[in-house]
Amino acid sequence: MTVRVRLAPSPTGSLHIGTARTGVFNWLFARHKGGTFILRIEDTDEERSKSEFTDNILSGLRWLGMNWDEGPFFQSQRLDLYSQAIQTLLDKGLAYRAYDTPEELEAMREAQKAKNQAPRYDNRHRDLTPDQQVAFEAAGRPAVIRFKIDDSRTITWNDMVRGPVTWQASDLGGDMVVARASSSTTIGQPLYNLAVVVDDIDMAITHVIRGEDHIANTAKQILLYEALGAAVPAFAHTPLILNQTGQKLSKRDGVTSISDFQKMGFVAPALANYMTLLGWSAPDAAEQFTLEEAAKQFSFDRVNKAGAKFDWDKLDWLNSQYLHAMEPAALLELALPYLQEAGYAVDAEADHSWLLPMMAMLAPSLTRLTDVVEQSRFFFTETVGFTDDAKAQVQLEGVPPVLEGVLSGLTAQSPATIDDLKALVNDVTKAQGVKKGLVMKSLRAALMGALQGPDLMESWLILRQRGFDIPRLKEALALS
Ligand code: GLU
Repeated sequence: MTVRVRLAPSPTGSLHIGTARTGVFNWLFARHKGGTFILRIEDTDEERSKSEFTDNILSGLRWLGMNWDEGPFFQSQRLDLYSQAIQTLLDKGLAYRAYDTPEELEAMREAQKAKNQAPRYDNRHRDLTPDQQVAFEAAGRPAVIRFKIDDSRTITWNDMVRGPVTWQASDLGGDMVVARASSSTTIGQPLYNLAVVVDDIDMAITHVIRGEDHIANTAKQILLYEALGAAVPAFAHTPLILNQTGQKLSKRDGVTSISDFQKMGFVAPALANYMTLLGWSAPDAAEQFTLEEAAKQFSFDRVNKAGAKFDWDKLDWLNSQYLHAMEPAALLELALPYLQEAGYAVDAEADHSWLLPMMAMLAPSLTRLTDVVEQSRFFFTETVGFTDDAKAQVQLEGVPPVLEGVLSGLTAQSPATIDDLKALVNDVTKAQGVKKGLVMKSLRAALMGALQGPDLMESWLILRQRGFDIPRLKEALALS
C-alpha cells in the first residue's frame, strides 16, 4: 500500500503551531514510508476564510521545509463533489431534509436542558410523511440535510497513537447536519465532516493524522465512510500542545502562529526540530535533528498520548544551537531582514567586509535572530549613547589620560590587526602605570557605550574598519 496522508488547514487564521505540528507528523510519516503528502485547504467557510491566511499557511509550510507532493487543493473548488455525495446519501435514504426553524431547535434544547439531558437533535424530521414535507416546503421553510446516525451503533477504531478508541453513536448528538440550509430542491453548503470524508475518499487518503480535538469527528466520519461505501482509513490523533499550566496553548500564551515565531527570531530548522519533539521522541533519544533525519526514525509508536507541554527554554536552546553552528554568511542573510526592520542601514549591497566578522563574533552569543539587533546596535552608528555606568567609567579619575593615550596611539600608529590593538593597549597600560583591567573596561565603555557586550578587541577592529573608534573615544573624552 502506498501511504497517502494530508494536511487540511482551514484558512481562517494564520498557520497555527498546532496545525504546523500536525503537518510535521504527516510529513514525517509520509517521508518515512516513501508516501505522498497532500495539502488541502479547507475553505468552505466563506465568511471566515481569507486568501491572506491561505498565503500565510503556504509560506509558513514552505519556510519550515514541509514540501508537499500534491495540491494545494481547495475545497471551495470541489463543491460539486460534495453535492454529489450528499445526493447519494439522500438517494440511499441515509440522509434527509430537516425543516426545523432556529426557534424550534432552541426550544428543543431548552426542553432538554430542563430535563438535564445533553443537547442533541432528537431526529424529529427523520421520518416526515410526504404531506408534512410538502407543507413545510409550501411554508417556504429552508431545509438542512441531516445524515442519519443509528444511536445503537458502537464505533471503534484502532488509533495509531491512542490504541483502541470506542464511541457510542448515541453520544454524537443525533442526526448530523451535512449541508447548510437551502431551498427544498437544492443542496446547501456542505459541512466539515462531509467534505473531509468525501475528499479523503477521493484523494485515496490511507492515514488520517490530525489533532486529538477531532476524535469525536472521527466517530461521525467513520459512519460517513460506511454510508458512502468506502474503506475507512487508519487514524492517528496527535496530542494537543499545552502551555505551562497544562491548558491548550492559545493566543494568550504570547504567540501561536508560525509567522509570529519567525518574527521573534526563531529559525525554521530549529522550530521544525522543536515541533517534532512536541509529542515524539527519537529512539536514540537525540534532540537535535533535521526533519529528514527524524523521518528516517519516525513512527507513531513513539508519539505520546498525553498533551505536549510547550517549553520556551527548550525552543530557545535548540534555536541557539542552530545559530551557533551557522556560517557567518548564512547567518547574515537570515539576520538582514531583522536589521533592516530595526532601521539599520543595511541593504543587499551592504559592505560584507565588516558585517561578516561581526556575525562571526556575535554568533556564539545568539539565542534568537532578534538578538543580533540589540547586540550589533553600536556598529551601525558613528556615535553611541552611554549607559550610566559606562559614563561613570569614562569619567573615573585616571581614565581620561588612558583614553587620551589610546587616541594618540591610534593616530600615530594606525593599528590594523588585533595584535596591533593589543600592543597599543599594553603600551598605554605601561605608560600610564595602571592596571590592564582598567584600560580594557574603560575602552569598552568608550567604544561600546556600555560595560557589557561582545569581544572587545574584535569589536574594536570592526569599529576601526567603520572609522568609528576615534570619534567614540573623542565623545567619551568630551564627557569628562
Ligand atoms: N480543517 C480541519 C482543521 O483545520 C482539518 C481537520 C482534519 O484534518 O480533518 O482542523
